[in-house]
Amino acid sequence: MSKPVYKINVLHVADLGSIDASFLVNKYNPGEKMPVPTYSYLITGDNIPPMLVDTGVKESQLDIMHRLGMTATQTPEQTYEAQLAKWGYKKEDIKVILHTHLHIDHAGNDDMFPNAKIIMPRRELMFSVADIMDAQYPPEYITYLVQQIHVPGKVRLIDNDAEIAPGIILEITDGHTWGSMNIKVNTRKGLAIICGDVIYDEILQCRKNPMYPEIEAHNKYEIEAFGDRSTGNYWNLWAAKAAVQKVVREADVILPIHDPLVVKKYGYEI
Ligand SMILES: [Zn+2]
Ligand SMILES: [Zn+2]
Repeated sequence: MSKPVYKINVLHVADLGSIDASFLVNKYNPGEKMPVPTYSYLITGDNIPPMLVDTGVKESQLDIMHRLGMTATQTPEQTYEAQLAKWGYKKEDIKVILHTHLHIDHAGNDDMFPNAKIIMPRRELMFSVADIMDAQYPPEYITYLVQQIHVPGKVRLIDNDAEIAPGIILEITDGHTWGSMNIKVNTRKGLAIICGDVIYDEILQCRKNPMYPEIEAHNKYEIEAFGDRSTGNYWNLWAAKAAVQKVVREADVILPIHDPLVVKKYGYEI
C-alpha cells in the first residue's frame, strides 16, 4: 500500500541578523555578516491533526537574540497568528509541535499553542540543560518545557526513531546538537526532510564540493556533486558532518530552518 502524501507549508516567522558567516558555514568568510530567515513548517494531511515544526524566537521577547550578539525582527505578517491564518488555521488548531531542537530560535513560542502535544527527543531536553551550548538554550524556554512534562499527556519524549503517522518519521540525529531531530515526510515531491540546523545553507554546505575527478569524467548519469561541510555551530564536528551526509543522501527535498533557498525552489507549499 502506498504511503499517504502530506502537504508542508513554509511559515516565515522571523528574520535574524548580525550572524557571522562562519557561524552558519564552518570557517566560511569570518567577519562577514549574513541575514537569514527563520521558518516553521506546518504539516497537514487527511489523516493527521495539523502539526507544527518548531516555534521560532519568542515573539514577546525578540531581543533575546542579543544574548548571541544577533538580532531578530518580526513584521506583523510574520507572527504565528498571521502565518497560520494565511493557510486557514488558528493557533488552537495545532495539535502537535515537533522540535528539530530547542535552540533560542526554535522553541520560543510553545506556550502559544494550548492544544498542542510537544514531541521531541529526550536527549535534546537533557542536552539543553547540560551547559554545552550555553546561551543558545534560554532558561525561559527550557524551564517552561520542564514544567510541561508534569502536565499529563502534554509532552512525549522519544528515545528512538518513531513513525508517528504512516509516512511521517521522526529520526534522532546528533548533528548540530546531541538531540537534534529530522522530520521525514512523504510529499508529492518525494521524501522531504526537515533537518533543523543540521544544514543552514544547502548550496554552501552540500553542493559546492566537486565530485571525485576520476568519477566526474564518467558521470553520464549526472549525479549531483555533494559535500558535507558542517555549519559553524556544532557540538561535535564528526557527528555534524555525518548528519549532513545523511540528509543529502536521503532527501528529495531538503528543508532547513534558515535557508532562503527553500522558498526560492518551492515557494511556500511543498
Ligand atoms: Zn540551532
Ligand atoms: Zn536556528
